[in-house]
Amino acid sequence: MQNAAQELRTKQTALTKGLASNAFQLLYQPIYNIQHDQKHDSTAIYAVEALLRWHHDGNCYTPQSFLDLLEDSDEILAVGAWVLKTACAAVHQWQQSLTPQLHCSVNLSYKQLRSVHLVSLVKAALESSGLEATYLIIEIAEQHLKTNCTQSLANLRELSQLGVQIALDNFGIGHASLGYLKRFPLDILKVDKSLINNTQHEPSLKDFSLAVINLGHSLKLKVIAEGIENADQLALIQANQCQYAQGYLLSSPLTAQQFTALISSPAK
Ligand code: C2E
Ligand code: MG
Repeated sequence: MQNAAQELRTKQTALTKGLASNAFQLLYQPIYNIQHDQKHDSTAIYAVEALLRWHHDGNCYTPQSFLDLLEDSDEILAVGAWVLKTACAAVHQWQQSLTPQLHCSVNLSYKQLRSVHLVSLVKAALESSGLEATYLIIEIAEQHLKTNCTQSLANLRELSQLGVQIALDNFGIGHASLGYLKRFPLDILKVDKSLINNTQHEPSLKDFSLAVINLGHSLKLKVIAEGIENADQLALIQANQCQYAQGYLLSSPLTAQQFTALISSPAK
């Protein structure tokens, strides 16, 4: 137990130094417009979702293994600000060179959502990068909306008034409440990958995931299906007029260089 506690402390200390030592990296996963005529054209890419990675001791860690530690230490606020600034700057550059309509999607932590500085932070990231507010998408995990926080609601309303799009992330995995859909100024519903991934093993989920897609459409929201891993899943959501999709079948998360290469390559 002592070893485990020591390991945790070492990890926490390393994380707090992560920004200074350039140990964080963003990967960018394309979100495709799957109703687009030219599927292999870069204009079919609607957005990229910025996904955080941490390099430590020769390993590359995904958020599952360090996000909670960042949240515990409040370091998430500084790292979250870096994510926003870096992702907005990268997307603005891609807009200037190759993909003028590309949107930038950024995940927000629980603490960022509740912070009184959130709106000024977003404004600063937009100003310093030159990205227009309408091209920024803020992703809020469904479970972060369940606590009744007036600051979170005020933040989201103010961001929405600026023109920033708000996406409800991981929708349909347990904390879903139709009340959220009415109460929060949402533009996008991201259908959780567990609903899409498991349709082969649990056929009843097929109806469920289609019902969620239809719900989003009835509420005039854009719907993004997450976790598309095979052609059957893609065909299923396409047949149901789902417009946007993300998943390993379409593209894994890419480094900035890999994404540049993807959009620079001639359409097939
Ligand atoms: P998320 O927002 O639901 O992001 C999608 C996750 O699904 C990513 O995991 C992505 O790599 C993975 N994924 C993409 N396509 C597929 C697929 O076809 N199948 C499967 N099974 N998985 C797929 P990742 O990068 O490990 O991120 C995990 C979570 O960490 C994210 O889930 C998000 O909640 C959080 N996160 C990532 N970056 C940030 C960040 O900058 N700030 C904050 N606060 N949270 C972040
Ligand atoms: Mg997300």
